[in-house]
Amino acid sequence: MSLAQGRPYLAIPGPSTMPDRVLAAMHRPAPNIYEGEIEEIAARVASNLRRVALSSSHVAIYIANGHGAWEASIANVFSRGDKALGLVTGRFGNIWALSCAAMGVEVERLDFGLKAPADPARVEAALRADPRHEIKAVLLTHVDTATSVRNDVAAVRAAIDAAGHPALLMVDCIASLGCDEFRMDDWGADVMVAASQKGLMTPPGLGFVWFSDRALEANRKADLVTPYWNWQPRAFPELVYQYFGGTSPTHHLFGLDEALKMILEEEGLEHVWTRHATLARAVWAAFETWGKEGDIALNIADPAHRAHSVTAARIGAGGAQRLRGWLETQAGVTLGIGLGMAEPGTPEAGDFLRVAHMGHVNAHMTLGALATMEAGMQALAIPHGQGGLAAAAAAVARGAGQA
Ligand SMILES: *Cc1c(COP(=O)(O)O)cnc(C)c1O
Repeated sequence: MSLAQGRPYLAIPGPSTMPDRVLAAMHRPAPNIYEGEIEEIAARVASNLRRVALSSSHVAIYIANGHGAWEASIANVFSRGDKALGLVTGRFGNIWALSCAAMGVEVERLDFGLKAPADPARVEAALRADPRHEIKAVLLTHVDTATSVRNDVAAVRAAIDAAGHPALLMVDCIASLGCDEFRMDDWGADVMVAASQKGLMTPPGLGFVWFSDRALEANRKADLVTPYWNWQPRAFPELVYQYFGGTSPTHHLFGLDEALKMILEEEGLEHVWTRHATLARAVWAAFETWGKEGDIALNIADPAHRAHSVTAARIGAGGAQRLRGWLETQAGVTLGIGLGMAEPGTPEAGDFLRVAHMGHVNAHMTLGALATMEAGMQALAIPHGQGGLAAAAAAVARGAGQA
């Protein structure tokens, strides 16, 4: 008998769970889009987006998803024939590099495989091999959502500086902003992209690009930029329609305004990071224990390089696919598919899954997802070590406060 009735839990890495308060904030008539309340909300959202990125620089808001934000970032920085250095640690870094190439930028790729972060020493060497400083920017994915690797942004910045190279550092924080610690100013990112539907707990549909004054200089020469994607009117609007290149995404703004208030004013950004870190440790503890007796392993071996928002893992002999199916039909939990870990359609593709612990998640949601996974492994006779849930509970107990 299926036990899936009840509130479903979509534990995939985006769209993440949206707070009821965010949904409720959107449940209202559209405001006047020319003046009044909308101006205040747009200005407050832009200012809070800078706060959540710990950025004193500029931000442009697009009606787009992450792919749109990627293209916006490329269009504003590059001219046709420019060079970029793309650091690839999984599928998302790869697609950003491919978008760049498709737009006429020559991309040199450094591929670090599917199980490791970008190595700053290789970045430094690649930049030293460019004495004429033709590489205009380095593209880095903070958390690659496919592999769940977390890259060290500050270390890559240090590598660029050590090479004495003027390249801009562009960072994709779509899967990490509002989950993992990220400090745009302190870590020296020139451009950062994110989207609404992951750590920011808002429906898919808004993409964001933050940019420094140095990136703004590059923008003045970029010939790829078109009027709609140009970040300047959006970041420095004189009239409210310029924020959005036309009609405001009114309801997304209501939702995002509420979500940013929850993150910044109520829970606090550092607490948000700590909550994600604790829940991530619970997931890792369960998998490590299950893996003692089963063909089960986390994708990233070193905890220091693991994302706090999503965990990619392998359960051999197609176990990942069978477990995902069981969770969805029997327990009301949807886990993420493996992405880019094996050729689609091959038997190995059924060995990978991802568990999201991103955004509006708390201990009972993550422990509940893990408990249903253990139930599914029992039901499907997937071999696994005993005590995974106790280990996860202990990680939560260590991370939780006192009553
Ligand atoms: C989700 C994601 C994207 C793509 O975002 P879409 O909104 O699906 O276009 C890009 N990069 C990373 C790291 C992501 O997690």
